[in-house]
Amino acid sequence: MAIQTINPATNEVIKTFEEHTSDQVQQKLKAADEAFQQWKNTGFEERARLMNRCADILEEEAEKYGRIITLEMGKPLKDAISEVQKCAKVCRYYAEHAAEFLKDEEVESGASRSLIAYQPLGVVLAVMPWNFPFWQVFRFLAPALMAGNAGVLKHASNVPQCALAIEEIIHKAGFPKDVFHTLLIGSKAVDAIIENTIVKAVTLTGSEGAGSKVAEKAGSEIKKTVLELGGSDPFIILEDADLEAAATTAVKSRMVNTGQSCIAAKRFIVVEGIADAFLKRMKEKMQTLRTGDPLTEDCDYGPMARQDLAEELEQQVQESIRKGAKVVLEGGHEKGSAYFKPMIIQDPKPGSPAYEGELFGPVAIAFVVKDEAEAIKIANDHKYGLAGTVFTSDQERGLRVARQVETGAMFVNAMVASTPEMPFGGIKKSGYGRELSYIGIREFTNQKSIWVG
Ligand code: NDP
Repeated sequence: MAIQTINPATNEVIKTFEEHTSDQVQQKLKAADEAFQQWKNTGFEERARLMNRCADILEEEAEKYGRIITLEMGKPLKDAISEVQKCAKVCRYYAEHAAEFLKDEEVESGASRSLIAYQPLGVVLAVMPWNFPFWQVFRFLAPALMAGNAGVLKHASNVPQCALAIEEIIHKAGFPKDVFHTLLIGSKAVDAIIENTIVKAVTLTGSEGAGSKVAEKAGSEIKKTVLELGGSDPFIILEDADLEAAATTAVKSRMVNTGQSCIAAKRFIVVEGIADAFLKRMKEKMQTLRTGDPLTEDCDYGPMARQDLAEELEQQVQESIRKGAKVVLEGGHEKGSAYFKPMIIQDPKPGSPAYEGELFGPVAIAFVVKDEAEAIKIANDHKYGLAGTVFTSDQERGLRVARQVETGAMFVNAMVASTPEMPFGGIKKSGYGRELSYIGIREFTNQKSIWVG
């Protein structure tokens, strides 16, 4: 894939970028490593000052950066601006808390003194996707820099201007120039970077296939990885749920980012007594959503990020229908464009993409089940285990179901979302490791035991 900005709302090629050569990559890695040798010795106060400055820039220039996001991957401008503002929050969160999260932990043992120290590892490679092109990067970068690491970014090939804008923000904030670099490279160039002894660890957010390849290479080099991969999050609606709230949240969660979110609800598992009423509401709400030019205020959902992604989704849907899924709400790919009209399909059969895989776009998959036990069974009958939701008016019941669903996070009567205070990540083929919270900042540290005899 060429490194290009293509506006998905119009399919117009806006700009094509030259890839960095392997010599340029080597220079940037070397510079990042040299910068790390200084950066690791700075105090938390100095790091926090720069990180707060970074947050200021994100807030002050949210619209400018939001426009770049919308131009490159098509989300409505208001959502793109919110994404930039959310990045400011994660910067402030780690600016405030990093020192406390990484302070020495005194431990009682047989030693006269023993403690755990959290020390930075060095240059961390981040391989990132296009769906939240700022948030996914800052979620890694804010804790990584606060911990004293340096970072290099290989962003998705369709969001190069976002990648360069992030580099610009870090430099404008006053961080040492080489502590973070964007590498304009295709995915084929990633293996050589993982092999480079300067790179100490890798984090990847993206598809299962990309995660598996990168982890395989990092494994062969004995380098730590954190993987945030796909999801087909269940959204369970029990018979005692507030149906209006459940349907509103269901549509919001399925349609966030035109359905292109790893933690979007994808499988709506509803018990039979309320299924018709729930699906009727969901269908009505999906039909009222407006699309169009993502730069306009009244656009609820934009195009998908690339035409090939919309085509692939259409194929997955058609195969699922051929294998027995029913259509509840008609929609689909609008040929020759990246637009996809929202759909609801019901009861896909095992062996079909809607049952087994991830539909990364505006297609809701409904399952009608007998009871709570069957809902949990269907929820868990999936290779992914990222997150999920349960709606019930009985909080205790909600907590019980939450514990039984095999995912990295469960939300009771609420939409799944990431927030700096809570760890984020999956189990099964959704990946491993955690981002955010005190757990996330410790992932790329040497958790060193120090023993005094
Ligand atoms: P990818 O997983 O292919 O892309 C994510 C990142 O990984 C990009 O930077 C990409 O680079 C890079 N990458 C891909 N393959 C390799 C490789 N073999 N070695 C090193 N780096 C690699 O996502 P796609 O854009 O192809 O989207 C396809 C599907 O991925 C979606 O339909 C969705 O299911 C899933 N996805 C999940 C996301 C999530 O948040 N969990 C986010 C985005 C996609 P490049 O762009 O240059 O190929």
